[in-house]
Amino acid sequence: MRKDSKPIDCDVHPTVSDIKVLLPHLEGYWRDSVEERGIGSLESAAYPPNAPLTARPDFRGENGYAATNVSELSSHVFDRWGAGTAICNCLYGVQLIFNEDMARAFHRALNDWIAKEFLDRDARLRASIIVPMQNVEYAVDEIERCAKDRRFVQIMVLAMQETPLGRRHYWPIFAAAERLGLPIGIHAGSNYRNPVTSLGWPTSYVEDYTSQAQGFQSQVASLITEGVFAKYPKLKVVLIESGVTWLPAFLWRFSKFWRGARTEIPWVDRSPAEIVRDNFRLTIQPFDGPSDPHDVERIVDHLKSDDMLLFSSDFPHWQFDGDETMPRGIPERLRHKILVENPLATYDRLNDAPEQA
Ligand code: ZN
Repeated sequence: MRKDSKPIDCDVHPTVSDIKVLLPHLEGYWRDSVEERGIGSLESAAYPPNAPLTARPDFRGENGYAATNVSELSSHVFDRWGAGTAICNCLYGVQLIFNEDMARAFHRALNDWIAKEFLDRDARLRASIIVPMQNVEYAVDEIERCAKDRRFVQIMVLAMQETPLGRRHYWPIFAAAERLGLPIGIHAGSNYRNPVTSLGWPTSYVEDYTSQAQGFQSQVASLITEGVFAKYPKLKVVLIESGVTWLPAFLWRFSKFWRGARTEIPWVDRSPAEIVRDNFRLTIQPFDGPSDPHDVERIVDHLKSDDMLLFSSDFPHWQFDGDETMPRGIPERLRHKILVENPLATYDRLNDAPEQA
């Protein structure tokens, strides 16, 4: 384990404020296409400057957007809140593109932009590889291309895909992840190919965001029942911005029905709750639990593991008051594990010596 024991922030979000910042990283054909076809922003809700509640005023830079460059991000995450390392998970609408070739070009550009504008400019930063799930072959190519740079420590996909993540056509992605020692980070969000609730389209953003937990539940069930961890036992999955408190009740239900119907899926040879404890981790902001430490202890008891929670600020999302990036109620005895030990045990590449990274 590394000597430095500063907090590791497992979820921060660089913001693409304008598609033009990606132009230098696009191949000529796609650069021309942006101009000639008038392709505008791929993201409709990246902390828009005119929506004051989407990011705190002190998080925003001069152009009104938050975390558009490394100094805006580092000044909060490192200088103000004292993290020693942070993992950039860039949310930009590249997952929504229908054209597979265009998706590949924009994913490449986004990963190269993160490397050049963030990783190259602050040695404390790491990043997730954003992969074009529109085409599995392209996704694996992008993972292998970026993984050569050991500052990429994870593969990131959205919680809601076109089909459940455990389906066999995605398995080459899990094979690459296990082979390269990269966790799959599943971040809240949708490519909006399907409604965000199983009942159809909701009316409000509140319903959309609350429904993300349903998406995470379905992905956990899919990955386990399809047999992903029987085939790739070393694969780690991190649920990012998923909330935490839905998990124990879901696992009781899932494990109970597995006991009754496990002959259907004989490759799942132990309880889903056990598989989750071994192979899944969760980031803690926004924490959807109580603020009393005794109550939080009970939730951790229900998880039956101290190893599962990873610190995250979710900057520049506005998830906490003041500078209290650690949710209220996290018991003192768990703080160091959540801040440092669990992230180091989850992300192999964070244990690299500085000269390796
Ligand atoms: Zn996040």
